[in-house]
Amino acid sequence: MRITLAELEIHWVSVAETYRPGSLDYHGAEFRQTAPLQLKATAELLGAEIRIGGHLETRLEANCDRCLGPVEIPVSCDFDLFYRPLQSIAKEEEIEVPAEEMEVGFYTGDGIELADVATEQVILFVPMKVVCRPECRGLCPECGANLNLTKCNCAPRRKDSPFASLQEE
Ligand SMILES: [Zn+2]
Ligand SMILES: [Zn+2]
Repeated sequence: MRITLAELEIHWVSVAETYRPGSLDYHGAEFRQTAPLQLKATAELLGAEIRIGGHLETRLEANCDRCLGPVEIPVSCDFDLFYRPLQSIAKEEEIEVPAEEMEVGFYTGDGIELADVATEQVILFVPMKVVCRPECRGLCPECGANLNLTKCNCAPRRKDSPFASLQEE
C-alpha cells in the first residue's frame, strides 16, 4: 500500500494492514517472520515532510548467536517517523543524518510505501546479537558440541584457566 502526497494534501490518512509471512522483503536479514504482521498507522503532511506514527506487531524466529538454536522474538513496537523528500538534498551531497535525527527518513517520488516502513521498523527492533537465554553456553569452539546439552572432553582453553596468568610469570 502506498501513501501518496496527493492523498495527504487533502486529508490525513489512517491505515490498517496485515502482511503474511513471506510477503515482506527483509533485505537478507537473519530472521524469519512466523506470524502475520499487523500494522496500524496514521500519516499526515507537515510542509513537505510526511509524518507517520503507529504500532506494529508480529513474531519472528532467529537463530541463537551462541548455540544456533531457534529463538522466538515477539515484536511489538510503536513508531513516530518523519520522511523528507529526497529531492531537497543535492545528489553530490553526503547524506549524514545526525544521531538525534535517527527517526528521519527520506522518500522519493509521490509518497511512501507502507511495507517499507514495516520492514524498516522490524529490522530496527531486532537486537544485533540474538541469544536464546542470557546463560546460553553456546557451542564448544573445538568440537562443536552444544554445551547446553552435553559436556565434551576438549581441554579448556588456556586463557580461561585461572592459573594461566600465574604460569606466564
Ligand atoms: Zn543459545
Ligand atoms: Zn568440545
